[in-house]
Amino acid sequence: MQTSDMPEGLDPEDWEAFRAEAHALLDICVDRMRDARDLPWQLKPREDIPKLALSGVGHGEAAAIKRVVEEILPYHTGNTHPRFWGWVHGTGLAQGILSEMVVATMNSNCGGRDHAATYVERAVIDWARRVIGFPDTASGVLVTGTSQATVVALASARTRALGAAVRTTGNNGAPLVGYAGGGVHSSSAKAFEVLGLGRDNMRLIPEGDGGMDLDALNAAIAADRAAGKQPFVVIGTAGSVDLGRYDNLNALADIAKAEGIWLHVDGAFGAWSRLAEAPWRHLSDGIERADSLACDFHKWISVPYDCGLALIRHEEEQRATFASRPAYLEGQVAGLAGAEPWFCDYGVDLSRGNRALKVWLAVEALGEERLGAAITMNCRQAARLGELVDATPGLHRAAPVVSNICVFTAADSLPPEEQSALNTRISHELQLSGEAVFSTTKRDGVTYLRAAFVNHRTREQDLREAVNAVVAARDRVKMSGVL
Ligand SMILES: *Cc1c(COP(=O)(O)O)cnc(C)c1O
Repeated sequence: MQTSDMPEGLDPEDWEAFRAEAHALLDICVDRMRDARDLPWQLKPREDIPKLALSGVGHGEAAAIKRVVEEILPYHTGNTHPRFWGWVHGTGLAQGILSEMVVATMNSNCGGRDHAATYVERAVIDWARRVIGFPDTASGVLVTGTSQATVVALASARTRALGAAVRTTGNNGAPLVGYAGGGVHSSSAKAFEVLGLGRDNMRLIPEGDGGMDLDALNAAIAADRAAGKQPFVVIGTAGSVDLGRYDNLNALADIAKAEGIWLHVDGAFGAWSRLAEAPWRHLSDGIERADSLACDFHKWISVPYDCGLALIRHEEEQRATFASRPAYLEGQVAGLAGAEPWFCDYGVDLSRGNRALKVWLAVEALGEERLGAAITMNCRQAARLGELVDATPGLHRAAPVVSNICVFTAADSLPPEEQSALNTRISHELQLSGEAVFSTTKRDGVTYLRAAFVNHRTREQDLREAVNAVVAARDRVKMSGVL
């Protein structure tokens, strides 16, 4: 009879050969991080994409790693490059190479139990809680990102409104409504959808430079109450994705308190203005009064993707929403299954990776002063880009630069449709040439170029070169007569 043993299991047959491969790959990764300035986004040749299909036949590590290095590694998102300002993409950290190596080695399941990774996660949440100004009694959980954190937060808000019975009965036709500024991120609407609340029940309140119009908010709440609706949440934004605007969070906290409704803050990147110098630091004043906060570590704290955080002011409301452990997951007084709390009681996931270590290592290695200095630098850079735009003929800002985002057009004299086509074309050209990555956004019927600074590699020189590249691209496109 044949033995059922696999001598190595799935481990390498030759550990020394594996070690040599690992060291070589580490060197390649470190080189790429060091040389990030020379490595902008590039398009992966279309004809090479089908070659990534897996045949299912194993070819060994050395061959597989060679393919990773040649066919995958060079075709990154580009957000490691100093002139990447598209969307809101974190830059990453060299320390991330190290944390991810340790994370894979430990392979911890962070749903609960008694091991170092869960203590690291608690330390990270404690740190965030202190920086944000939430009380020691607040609870939290690390998740993929702000989108998922918003679901966790709004589900907790719903529990306050409907009681924990909502878990068994469902929404049961409860007329719940919520409120957010017009510039709220789409993830909040998605959370309304996922929770069965319906996106129409998230009222969009008009806003100005100072955020949500408070009179309009009060009027909307009153109108909903008069119509028999049940207002249950106000969603404040700390750093809007389009323009980097902040709602007046203290005013929202006052209204939420007076109305007896939950204040949730989307602070995906902007919550970390808490670490910046004045005046930017004060943009998020009042954030400490929220009932919940959703934010990211992978944007302005720069840790590698993915890592977001849901912070909930009252732990019992988070537990009432998510705690549920069948017998096979029961906690024990000793051994591996000891140690409360288990993070599976604070969100949707049971099996969870170790997202905390990369944050812990970043804060422990760099410190909040240096992390904060990078955030302050980015706000200064956005303001500087605004100045350069103002000083360049034909370029025009769409709105004041409030924090880290500058939105502008390359040709203010053209009619809206031509401006939009031109700006879109410029963003494509500069992305493809590797000169700079701007994304675009629409305002008042015009598509603008948008630069969001969460990039710790950007330098002053990059801003000037990027503006020159915009002007050159504009003139090229105009000369070519395509528009
Ligand atoms: C990025 C972003 C989100 C979504 O966060 P993810 O981490 O991508 O899920 C939500 N709100 C704002 C303001 C954002 O910038």
